This record gives sequence, structure tokens and C-alpha cells, in this order.
Amino acid sequence: MPKKSFSEPDDLNCRGGLNELWEKDRQKPLLYNKKIICPVCGTEFNAKAIKKSSYRIVKKDSDFFIRYSIINPYFYDVWVCDNCGYAAIKNDFPNLSDRDADIIKEKISSRWHPKNYPEVYDVDLALQRYKLSLLNYHVIGAKASKKAINFLKIAWMYRLKEDSENETKSLIQALDNFSTAYYNEPSPICGMEKFTTMYLIGELMRRTGKGEDSLIWFSQILTSITAPAKIKDMARDQKDLVKDSAEDRPLSSDEQYNNILKDNKSHSLFAKFRK
Ligand SMILES: [Zn+2]
Repeated sequence: MPKKSFSEPDDLNCRGGLNELWEKDRQKPLLYNKKIICPVCGTEFNAKAIKKSSYRIVKKDSDFFIRYSIINPYFYDVWVCDNCGYAAIKNDFPNLSDRDADIIKEKISSRWHPKNYPEVYDVDLALQRYKLSLLNYHVIGAKASKKAINFLKIAWMYRLKEDSENETKSLIQALDNFSTAYYNEPSPICGMEKFTTMYLIGELMRRTGKGEDSLIWFSQILTSITAPAKIKDMARDQKDLVKDSAEDRPLSSDEQYNNILKDNKSHSLFAKFRK
């Protein structure tokens, strides 16, 4: 991102604050309330939902993160019952066994203080809500795939905040859980067919410094007869990226030493010293 000088108006606090308020006012009419009954405490509450086609897709990242303009659907992805603290990614919210509801009452509700969430959400609130749903998944021992997608979305929120350290930490947790899900759960995983999951595992490896390992996953996709062409194309692009960055990286001291030895052999420059 280009660095702005202090004199630009966006840097002034009062202007920034007004912009934020204006943004939130603009987003209010794009939201509506959806009546939900909490499966843990039975309370009826309003979940915020976004009116269809009120947002625009700007760009898709290579790990399936979608960048939106106007309003961000990820911010409204977690439903929270403010009465008891039960939270889950909205598709999972109603699907809770009686046993899990009892665990949440005991471990979450007993310590919950209502938050009175505002009408319009932002990235920090979204992060809080994703972390709360992760805590709920954790106490009920939810499947690895559920934790995986929750960690991935937390990583994406850190990406929006340009907090790369926490983004990487969350991507590592997402990778760990997607790998567990891949070996232990039937496909589709989080709506992804086998080869899409394989691609995502490779891509999360690439993004977390395991470029060598990611090549194994990308190559498996590329050599498969049944993998869809679109996933093959994506795997090929990311494989090339890993190879390019391997060529660009500075040599380690071991590699430099080996190269000097190789050079010496070919030129026989120091041949007499080796004899
Ligand atoms: Zn509740």
C-alpha cells in the first residue's frame, strides 16, 4: 500500500471518524433482521442478514477469500445468541444436539455477559464473533472441518486488518484442521469436493512457509485423471509460484559452500590444494 503523508485528509482522526459513521449509516438499509430461535436457551432473537445483491465482489484470493465492496458478508457470518452466548457460523447454528446444548449451558452460558451488539458490524466485531463461535465449537468437540473453516475465516479477518502475524497463526491452525478433516471426514468438506480440499491444503501450506510440502499436493492434483480442469489450472499456477520463489530466494550458507566446491571442481582452480 502506498504510504500517505500526514497532511492527507484521511489521516485526520475527525475525518476518519466521520467517514466511519457515514459508512455505517450507508450500510444500515442493506441489512434486515431475521428471527431466530436459539437451540440452547429457546430465546427468540434477531440475527442481522444482508439483503441479496447489496454487495459486490471485487477480487478472489487464491485461498478462496472473497474481497467485497459496499458491505462485507463475512461480518454477518456468525450468529450469536446474546442471551446465552451460543454462537456458530450461521449454517451450523440450528444443528445442535441436546447433549451439545447442555455442554454450552454449562461451559459458556454460565459465564456469559450480554454484549448488546451494534446494528452495523465491522472487522473487529466480526473477529470477536468468529472467536466466540470457535470457542463454542471447541467446548462441544466439533468436527475438524468446522474448526478449520472457522480458523480460515479468522485468518481472513486478520488479512483485512493487515495483521500478517496473526493471519499466519490462524492459517496454520486452519491447515492443521483441514488436514485432519481430509483424512477423517467424508467429502464434501465445508462444501468442497476432494480435489478442492486438496488444493486448499496445498495453498495453505504455501502461504505458511511449507512450499516444498505444498508441491506434493499440487502435483497429486495435476497428475490425477479425474481432477476438474479449473482446479488443475489453479494448482499449476500455485506450483509455479512456489518454484519461482524457490529460485528467487537467497542461498543458504550450506548451498553457497557447495556451489563454491562445485565451482572449484569445474575450474580446477584449487585442485592442487585438494591433492
Ligand atoms: Zn441462547
